Amino acid sequence: MCKSCEAKPVFELGNGKKLCKRCFTRYYEKKVFRTIAKYDLIDKGDKIAVAASGGKDSTTLLYLLSRFCKDRRFCTIEAVAIDEGIHSYRDKTLEDLKKFCEQEEIKLHIFSYKKEFGFSLDQALQKVRKKGIKLTSCHMCGVLRRYLLNKKSRNLGFTKLATGHNIDDEAQTILMNQFKGNIALSAKLGPKTGVIKDKNFAQRIKPLYFCTEKENMIYSFIHKIVPGYVECPNQASYRFAIRDFLNKFEAKNPGVKQAIVKSFLATLPILKKKYGNEVNRNTLKNCKKCKEPSSKDICKTCELIEILKD
Ligand code: SF4
Ligand SMILES: [Zn+2]
Ligand SMILES: [Zn+2]
Repeated sequence: MCKSCEAKPVFELGNGKKLCKRCFTRYYEKKVFRTIAKYDLIDKGDKIAVAASGGKDSTTLLYLLSRFCKDRRFCTIEAVAIDEGIHSYRDKTLEDLKKFCEQEEIKLHIFSYKKEFGFSLDQALQKVRKKGIKLTSCHMCGVLRRYLLNKKSRNLGFTKLATGHNIDDEAQTILMNQFKGNIALSAKLGPKTGVIKDKNFAQRIKPLYFCTEKENMIYSFIHKIVPGYVECPNQASYRFAIRDFLNKFEAKNPGVKQAIVKSFLATLPILKKKYGNEVNRNTLKNCKKCKEPSSKDICKTCELIEILKD
């Protein structure tokens, strides 16, 4: 029975206490709004873009932030979605997202790789395979998505870009950076990242930072936020191997993911001091080809476009 009201439980906390739908909703929303307040994620007058994919994490975030901003009337929320061009996956999740935004009266902007770069992710993948180039779909997808989200959020005048990252994602990234020896990259993590008040960047915020993937799934299910769960067919990267390993480890040792993130946050100020804050303004240039911000003469996106040329 639920620890507070004796109704039928839907969720069990790490300490074994059970929560019913209503108490779980209260517990979950409190966790999200506490993260927003503690890390000062939203300011009065913010125009926030939610990076939405139609999946459970980002749609749940959109649902919560649109309510939060409507109630308080001090910020605006719109959704920005990227259509990578992944057959039988993104087309489906974007349909769900369109319906959700219509129903919730949220403005939705969709940008596609095909229109912006001239090729879909499926086509890029075919090309690298044909050319024998060792680039994973997730690597290409991530480079292009970050580029478009930053460029479009800035051009549309958003002050913040909110993403649906959860504690599972963060624990995976921390371990990935450790395993690959990329510790400097971890200085870019945390609930609030990106260059503050720089005209070239929309600051990134992660209000679901302390929620687990499972909690997001349950909240989304209770509130009927997404109709179903579809997985990307390209999930074969390093990240997914770490995800499976972490899930198995967590099942035997509950609380491991939370411990990884909490101990990481305790060291984050040291990492930021050592490796600089997010983007080192002194080395930040503009890409010679596309003029977007880049740490090198040619940005990663333009490099990728060059590789993919016939
Ligand atoms: S799993 Fe990889 S390819 Fe699929 S959407 Fe995510 S980053 Fe892109
Ligand atoms: Zn209850
Ligand atoms: Zn460029």
